[in-house]
Amino acid sequence: MSATPRKPAKKNKKRVSRLIVADDLPPAAQAASLAISLCKAAKVDTFTELEEKVRSGDEKVLAALASIRLTPEQVDLISQNMFAVRAVGAKPPMRTVVVCHDCNAVLVMSGGATPKKCTLTRNCTGVTSRASAAVRRELVDDPAA
Ligand SMILES: [Zn+2]
Repeated sequence: MSATPRKPAKKNKKRVSRLIVADDLPPAAQAASLAISLCKAAKVDTFTELEEKVRSGDEKVLAALASIRLTPEQVDLISQNMFAVRAVGAKPPMRTVVVCHDCNAVLVMSGGATPKKCTLTRNCTGVTSRASAAVRRELVDDPAA
């Protein structure tokens, strides 16, 4: 009986993660969630800072980003919701956005209670969602997935 595994783990195996966001959130909130997670992974505060470090070739930031695989849909979400993406901050005091499900208005928030109903658009009664960091899920079985 052999105890040798069929595929020995490679020494410097790259760990790749996906970011998981609730798809019932408004798109701006999904984009903000992704941005918070990316900034946390890269240990920067804002998406603008992240972009600057990518542009200047910061090795730690590039390595952190290489460990996260965004889907094409997530890339689109980010590029289509730049206002929300630029509003968030991953370092304390964390800044995030609250987005109305009906009118898609975006409120930038730090602390404090999330308004339950839209307070941004006159006569709008939509419910709101607060964006929090997207969950990282490591791709274990199939890193190419
Ligand atoms: Zn609204």
